[in-house]
Amino acid sequence: MEWDRYGFVANNPIIFKDPNGTYIIIYYEEDGKQQGYRYEYGVSYEGDNSFIQNTVAQLDYLIENSPIDENIIQQLATDEDFKWEIVNITLERMHTDDAKLSDGITTLGIPTTNVARTSYFDLVGFKTNTGGLQSPVSTLYHEGGHAYLRLQYYQLAQKYQETKDPNILIELERTIEKMESTTSTDYLNDEEQYVNETYEIPLAKQMGDGIRTSDFGSKTYETTNPFTSKPKGFIGPINLPPGKLPKSVIKTFR
Ligand SMILES: [Zn+2]
Repeated sequence: MEWDRYGFVANNPIIFKDPNGTYIIIYYEEDGKQQGYRYEYGVSYEGDNSFIQNTVAQLDYLIENSPIDENIIQQLATDEDFKWEIVNITLERMHTDDAKLSDGITTLGIPTTNVARTSYFDLVGFKTNTGGLQSPVSTLYHEGGHAYLRLQYYQLAQKYQETKDPNILIELERTIEKMESTTSTDYLNDEEQYVNETYEIPLAKQMGDGIRTSDFGSKTYETTNPFTSKPKGFIGPINLPPGKLPKSVIKTFR
């Protein structure tokens, strides 16, 4: 029975805790070595690594223009006890062109650690199952939704450890059980549907992008920049994204 899988939570809700885990770290490669850049909202990145430039601009944009009331990226960026790792997907997939056409994936794994890890590429758009096009920032926000769920699990587990209130444990176990089950054949599991409907679709609408109604039937392609669904090589005007624009966003349109 599924329930047994979460028996561990009762004894030790925090299975693994990275003592250095804080905030959002962007992993990239420079001089043949993996490096980590700590993202801080309001601090501009002055280096010339385009993966960091683009990812920083996307995170800044999402914080200033959160499509829903809950500013999930801001919370991920400021929670001192939780780390969201955003890893350039080409670091893990050996620089192939295939890697550049992968969008993003967040390791779901044990849900009560204080780390969520996302592999991501900053210039991958989606032709969705409904035929519309989606910009890369939608993918980053989708992955942020998975990370945010993990932040919430982690906070519940922490609260349980502090209070030993069995109701908190029951809430945590029920949420995880629900998210890992599959109610609709359109989605890999209920978490994917929840993340799509709660986070990805509101942002896609804000961006004027197409939406998805399924985990299946979408195709990836390379885009001109991290905020547009226009394919690489597109000739013609590319509009700035809507809303209040941080300097880092305007820089990506130069
Ligand atoms: Zn997902």
